[in-house]
Amino acid sequence: MKFFYLATKNNNDGQFEIHDRECPNIPNILERDYLGPFNNSMEAYRHAKLLNPAAVMCKNCCKEVRKTLVISSAFY
Ligand SMILES: [Zn+2]
Repeated sequence: MKFFYLATKNNNDGQFEIHDRECPNIPNILERDYLGPFNNSMEAYRHAKLLNPAAVMCKNCCKEVRKTLVISSAFY
């Protein structure tokens, strides 16, 4: 289980990044909402999308899942 947060301030692209608690790029405590514990960043992403359709995965801490998605989509 990892603990995920959603930024409450948008980034330069107008998107709201999802971070796990360990991420060095996580916004400070006043600029993030706690999403909850999830098995991986994909689950956190699905949940965050319901709260904020402009939510995106952080390129730093959610990188592994992004890679997995690319690999799995290549098989289908
Ligand atoms: Zn991050």
